[in-house]
Amino acid sequence: MNSITPPPSNLFYQTRQRRPLLSEARGVYIWDVDGKRYLDGSSGAMVVNIGHGNERVLAAMREQMAKATFGYRLHFENEPAERLALLTAEKMPEGLNRVFFVSGGSEAVESAIKLARQWAVATGHGKRWKIISREPSYHGATLGALALTGYAPMTAPFAPMMRMMPKVPAPRAYLDRDNLSDEARGLKYAETLRDKIIEEGPESVLAFIMEPVGGASTGALVAPDSYYRRIAEICDEFGILLILDEVMTGAGRTGKFLAAEHWNLKPDIIALSKGFASGYVPLGAMVAHERVVEPVLAAGGFIHGYTYAGNPLACAAGLAVLQEIDHENLVRRAETTGAALKRELEGLMERFPVIGDVRGTGLLLAFELVADRQTMQPLPKEIEAHVHLVEEAYKRGLIIYSRRTRGGIEGDHFMICPPLIADETHIAEIVTTLEESLTALVSRFGLPSGR
Ligand code: PMP
Repeated sequence: MNSITPPPSNLFYQTRQRRPLLSEARGVYIWDVDGKRYLDGSSGAMVVNIGHGNERVLAAMREQMAKATFGYRLHFENEPAERLALLTAEKMPEGLNRVFFVSGGSEAVESAIKLARQWAVATGHGKRWKIISREPSYHGATLGALALTGYAPMTAPFAPMMRMMPKVPAPRAYLDRDNLSDEARGLKYAETLRDKIIEEGPESVLAFIMEPVGGASTGALVAPDSYYRRIAEICDEFGILLILDEVMTGAGRTGKFLAAEHWNLKPDIIALSKGFASGYVPLGAMVAHERVVEPVLAAGGFIHGYTYAGNPLACAAGLAVLQEIDHENLVRRAETTGAALKRELEGLMERFPVIGDVRGTGLLLAFELVADRQTMQPLPKEIEAHVHLVEEAYKRGLIIYSRRTRGGIEGDHFMICPPLIADETHIAEIVTTLEESLTALVSRFGLPSGR
């Protein structure tokens, strides 16, 4: 892969697999120390929405660094945190104007869990504690967020240490081979939430959490419109909170600032991270409706906090990132560039029978590989397509992100999510490299090649 073998390392991550040493990153490109260039076709892990090395953001960070990089929040307020909270609230649905800063997506979800529970206690609903989530889903690595995560390979070893939360099926309608209309299928999946609430006992259910457009766990899963409408009605009917995990979908990724805007959803709590700081610093936010926060503050305060919450340097970077999203009109660009890239991926699907589905919205896009498009039979596990296609692309200087979905039906999917600043030439480069990589995969494993 790379001629430079990285030196021995004391670090360890998921696997022993070594990767090239990062040298520089600018715009949509990353270079390793060997001088090889990679197009960041997945924005890292769907993080770097504004692109790498943005000079305006770096300047804002330098300016803040020269002033102060830390001030403990219980000793000092700080201007970057105040300004970022204000700008964030302006971008939220009405009433969601209370912002709590954290250092990443898991902390944002963890904070949402604890705020929801404290709201229940403060408002005399102390019996409510269950948060229903979907399977498959990913909500974070910490034990609270993991208990919401529907992805057995990640949760299984820790199950005895957690109180696993009830799950309903994610609406993977593209796998259904029935004759239902989209509308009916959306309702069918939404009703599984109502059934689950009744099965668990409505008086014990606190909230429902979902990624409005599925992330890595499902590969850019979008549900039929009727699903979202009905989910909101069901949450209202039982007085349970709607929490949206917009860690991946937020900050413009889907062609709206929040994915919630596509369906006019009015959640009670939203978790943000990833594109919110675009990788410049570890930062996330939990944004809550004032009707949730006020009773908690009135009852004595939110019993929760992190040392780095509201860090002035992190918030200065986050503020500059949001300003950049506005300045460069990146939400709109995600919508138009995403539509163009999706058409190209659909074009690849016409040429490669091994692509069974292309899905997503804005620049949160994915395709899934299958053995048979009619039955959506997955490729044999042993092929490890989710590993090999990524490697083929990597060799050719394109980074993409893949998963083999577990739980029920298996399948290899690939996230194609470049930074929102990507232009036509970058899209063309992604598609050409994908085409070459797919051709290599198909010939190596003797898969159906079409024309
Ligand atoms: N929620 C979602 C939807 C995510 O995609 C992720 C990260 N992949 C998280 C939560 C957790 O975020 P982090 O890794 O920053 O803790």
